[in-house]
Amino acid sequence: MSTIQTFNPATGRPLASYEAWDAERVETAVQRAHAASRAWALIPVAERAARVARLGQVLRAHADQLADLAVQEMGKPRAEALGEVSKSALTADYYAHKGPDILADVRVPVDGAEAWVAYEPAGLVLAVMPWNFPVWQVMRFALPSLVAGNGILLKHASNVTGSALALQELCTQAGLPDHLVTALLLADEDVPDTTARLIEDDRIAAVTLTGSNRAGAAVGSAAGRAAKKSVLELGGSDAFVVLADADIEAAASAAVKARFTNSGQSCVCAKRFIVHQDVADAFTAAFVRGVQALKVGDPSHPDTQVGPLARDDLRGAVERQVEESVAAGAQLLTGGKPLPGEGYFFQPTVLAGTGPGMAAFDEETFGPLAAIAVAADDDEAVRLANATSFGLGLSVWTARPPRGIELARRITSGAAFVNAIVASDPRLPFGGTKRSGYGRELAAAGIREFTNTRTYWVG
Ligand code: NDP
Repeated sequence: MSTIQTFNPATGRPLASYEAWDAERVETAVQRAHAASRAWALIPVAERAARVARLGQVLRAHADQLADLAVQEMGKPRAEALGEVSKSALTADYYAHKGPDILADVRVPVDGAEAWVAYEPAGLVLAVMPWNFPVWQVMRFALPSLVAGNGILLKHASNVTGSALALQELCTQAGLPDHLVTALLLADEDVPDTTARLIEDDRIAAVTLTGSNRAGAAVGSAAGRAAKKSVLELGGSDAFVVLADADIEAAASAAVKARFTNSGQSCVCAKRFIVHQDVADAFTAAFVRGVQALKVGDPSHPDTQVGPLARDDLRGAVERQVEESVAAGAQLLTGGKPLPGEGYFFQPTVLAGTGPGMAAFDEETFGPLAAIAVAADDDEAVRLANATSFGLGLSVWTARPPRGIELARRITSGAAFVNAIVASDPRLPFGGTKRSGYGRELAAAGIREFTNTRTYWVG
């Protein structure tokens, strides 16, 4: 019998172990989830929305439990873990309220007949989710999708299996039908084959994945082979562009937050800081001051701002990126090493003089590592910002927002924020371009990804 073992990243010690499912148990779960999703699709959208509203209340009532799990399983600072639950509950309120309107039929005037477009449930969706926001990543997809009438097979990251089971249980407590949201417990070695088989299965309508490019390529190609709809929300290497006229103190303080939130483990963390040469010294000094003031430590402590990385191998990846970038000519301004002692801590790190050809610039850095690059003018800032295979978010800082918007138009990304940090918002679509993936979550574009956009014509 295979087991799934979780670890507390703040100590490196084992946390819990779970029995992984064999093929028979997966098959039973698929049968039940498929039946539950068919029944759910027939329930009026207003009733589905009401149950999602209850799920929001249940999430609020269990915020402490979910936050504790995130702290223990992936080392998220507790204040941020509570924020994640609260954002999920607000998103439940939003889709309970707005979902039915977004999904309403759209009448289209045609000659001599009645015609309209309906957004009908897609069916049972496989959701492959990551550990970095154990509640929000799941809920960002699940809440709109449940209102849309779909069932969910949740393949959560194995290091947050406790969170996966808690979310499943809370869905039931909120009055969602049994098996409508089913957490699949798969042993590591079974994940690629079992997910590929599920994507092939006629009972699975579509698949969504948030995670690495490697996992995204596996799931996307399986979906392509099966001619199934897929949405991929993959990595990012977002540029944070500081123009010469920006308010440098404000930009530097936002930059610290944009890079080090979730201990640097977010797809939309700013990762490459592209700064105009006239303000590069002032920005760098203020930024490094802010980074050195961050409180690193026990994620369960309310004042902690940076916790451990979620796994030791992820910490190893950040260390390698620092070493390779320094060997290629980057200057280490602060940090750069794992913290001694137990747990997977890494010092908040700033590299200057980075650019294309360096790991910290070319790869996604998923940890407390910031890469600064200097641009001679706006054109070079655009070139550097675009010099990445990713295209998720972008943040531009300037005293003149129209100039920021103009610059943003020349940089490819799924979201452009001017004088603000990139973040997902339940009211706005979220997703990437280039190797950051395709498709959208949230808003009308997101909720409709997993619907059958159906044409009706009545003559
Ligand atoms: P993964 O992409 O491996 O994990 C994300 C999810 O995909 C997990 O549920 C994982 O399952 C699953 N998975 C992994 N391989 C496959 C596969 N072949 N077929 C189907 N599902 C699969 O990310 P990691 O945790 O290994 O992180 C590695 C890097 O990915 C990070 O350093 C970061 O760069 C990026 N990443 C980006 C995220 C984002 O928000 N865009 C989130 C997480 C990671 P299991 O846990 O069981 O392996």
